[in-house]
Amino acid sequence: MAKKQFKAESKRLLDLMINSIYTHREIFIRELISNSSDAIDKMYYKALTDESIRFDKENYYIEILADKEKRVLTIKDTGIGMTREEMEENLGVIAKSGSLAFKKENDLKDGYDIIGQFGVGFYSAFMVAEDVVVISRAHGSDEAWKWESKGADGYTIEPAQKDSTGTEIILTIKENTEDEHYDDYLEAYRLRALIKKYSDFIRYPIKLEMTRS
Ligand code: ADP
Ligand code: MG
Repeated sequence: MAKKQFKAESKRLLDLMINSIYTHREIFIRELISNSSDAIDKMYYKALTDESIRFDKENYYIEILADKEKRVLTIKDTGIGMTREEMEENLGVIAKSGSLAFKKENDLKDGYDIIGQFGVGFYSAFMVAEDVVVISRAHGSDEAWKWESKGADGYTIEPAQKDSTGTEIILTIKENTEDEHYDDYLEAYRLRALIKKYSDFIRYPIKLEMTRS
């Protein structure tokens, strides 16, 4: 399968994410949960104008699954999902959040803090993960797609299986280093604390599930 390249801007931000000694790696969880919440919001707003959609609250939630043994952390939502084209467009280029443009203007004056304060979005996943897989099925579509990337050298997209609308972000968490204890991001107490710290205001239920192998 041909590997596709990230757009130049995205590549620069990715490099920054992956290689920086940035100490607030934990914010990746805030970014991914907020994307899930946004995706559920989109279903909610769609339901307001489209009578064929019922927004039953109990069907809309975010689930965090941690498998310590396999070093896999999954952030799953029942939001609007992405088509293949949307994956290509939204995950292959830098976020519209404008954090990079902002950073450029301020030119690393406070580089790392800026990352902490403003959304860096989806790419923050690469601060803790050596491999990122996104499996998504868009609302109204019966196809699912899998996007995968190990970082700066590009990504692949291929057909996938998914029974219901929504998105799963599957992170293979990095091995520990002397400076960073990545294992923590697979621990219930740590995940619970991070969800509380960063995502307390999220309007949808966030379920935490630990896999015991
Ligand atoms: P932002 O949230 O500021 O737009 P991100 O980098 O966080 O930037 O996300 C980029 C885009 O990828 C989002 O705008 C959205 O279109 C898409 N996306 C990311 N995560 C999800 C998700 N869980 N469900 C649906 N779309 C998503
Ligand atoms: Mg976002």
